[in-house]
Amino acid sequence: MSYTAVRTPRFASKAAWAEILGQGATYPALENAQTADVVVIGAGFAGLSAARRLKQLDPQLQVTVLDALDIAEGSAGRNSGFMIDLPHDLASEDYAGGGDEAALIALNRQAISFARDAAEEFHINPAFVDPVGKVNGAATPKGDAHNRSYGAHLKALGETSEHLDAQAMAELTGSHYYISGLYTAGTLMLQPAGYIRGIAAGLACIGVQIHARSAVLEFSSHGSSWRVRTAQGHVDAPKIILATNGHLESFGIAKGRLMQLFLYASMTPELDAEEVRTLGGAARWGITPADPMGTTMRRIDTAQGGNRIVTRTCATVRPDMEASAHDIARASAVQRRKFADRFPQLGAMKMEYEWAGHLCLSLNGVAVTGEIAQGVYAATVQNGLGTARGTLTGIAAAEAALGHQSAVTDYFADEAVPKSLPPRPIATWGANAYLRWKEYRARAE
Ligand SMILES: Cc1cc2nc3c(=O)[nH]c(=O)nc-3n(C[C@H](O)[C@H](O)[C@H](O)COP(=O)(O)OP(=O)(O)OC[C@H]3O[C@@H](n4cnc5c(N)ncnc54)[C@H](O)[C@@H]3O)c2cc1C
Repeated sequence: MSYTAVRTPRFASKAAWAEILGQGATYPALENAQTADVVVIGAGFAGLSAARRLKQLDPQLQVTVLDALDIAEGSAGRNSGFMIDLPHDLASEDYAGGGDEAALIALNRQAISFARDAAEEFHINPAFVDPVGKVNGAATPKGDAHNRSYGAHLKALGETSEHLDAQAMAELTGSHYYISGLYTAGTLMLQPAGYIRGIAAGLACIGVQIHARSAVLEFSSHGSSWRVRTAQGHVDAPKIILATNGHLESFGIAKGRLMQLFLYASMTPELDAEEVRTLGGAARWGITPADPMGTTMRRIDTAQGGNRIVTRTCATVRPDMEASAHDIARASAVQRRKFADRFPQLGAMKMEYEWAGHLCLSLNGVAVTGEIAQGVYAATVQNGLGTARGTLTGIAAAEAALGHQSAVTDYFADEAVPKSLPPRPIATWGANAYLRWKEYRARAE
């Protein structure tokens, strides 16, 4: 049995979160013939969490992690860094989700604890894992109504939230754009590249072999073992964890069931002292939009890579798993407009970084986990909340691979399979038209 990758990850834009931290540790590409007990393919949230969980369960295990890119160059270093504990259903009007939300909140909190423990164990800069919570910002009465209904939904779940008025929002962000906000305390705010690099470095210290720039081209069974092949070498191992998120489909698995979505973001240059003064507000904050299709804004400070503001908005479905220069240019123009609406005091600011990143959804919001061939375990398809869900699917795959049962493995074992998508290209056109319409409706948020 063999699985061949029809494509491997490629990004035309830089991963800003890694760039602003400067050169990280380098890891060699895989060369020659090697062996391991478990090969993890993918060094994002899922892959690195899987590797850590494997070593927790069996410190003697020989674990090799392979990534096609440099560490934190993939979507793990391209996201906005909100590791959210609460329901965050992007398909809903106000994030309220369905299903057993209390169970999911408990699991998300387990993922957050896992990340915080890892940060402590591996001495990661505390500014990269900041437990400050986040605010759902509302710019319109409709957004405010979304926040109020979400707040009521949280209350019914026994969760607390705090309503902020326009003045409190301005004091926090320096922007007079928001009319209100809903603060929830449980979100862990990551410097995503700092966190991912820190985990990789910590794993390397405890004996995990990490190979960057080592795209897996094929894995095939040879007796009771799998051979995982890259351009310059291979690793033989009885077990594989596939932590490639949407690139699961590139190996021919779950074909026609995965939505390959690209999100876009931009980051200002480092603000100088005068700009920081003009901006006002606190040094760190994170605002998710009251309408899930609106604009996420985030302010970071010198401990996280400089006094900067990050703007994230726009989404496109790209089944070929690449965002074009045109996609990025369109999104960047929208982001500059959103930024200027919120921070007129900073004038027309030219962004230092504009980028795209990849995430993967299923129509029914389920992940793809479990044993997909003998000895091959998946930790993929994280849907909207990939920092928490990626961490959880990685834990689940590691535990399943070692025959360990827990609340995490039970949760994913009970999930349905991803629903089939309508045929392409009609589904892609339809999905993109729908996203544009949702973006338009949420344009003020
Ligand atoms: C702009 C943007 C903002 C976002 N904001 C947030 C947010 O605030 N909060 C949140 O929770 N989520 C957010 N996300 C989503 C989040 O980034 C992803 O869901 C998350 O990275 C998924 O983790 P993962 O480990 O499953 O996949 P990834 O992080 O994509 O990691 C998969 C890894 O597999 C590697 N890989 C794939 N194929 C191969 C191969 N053949 N060989 C070797 N390696 C391979 C890739 O290079 C990649 O490094 C955002 C995404 C984007 C793009």
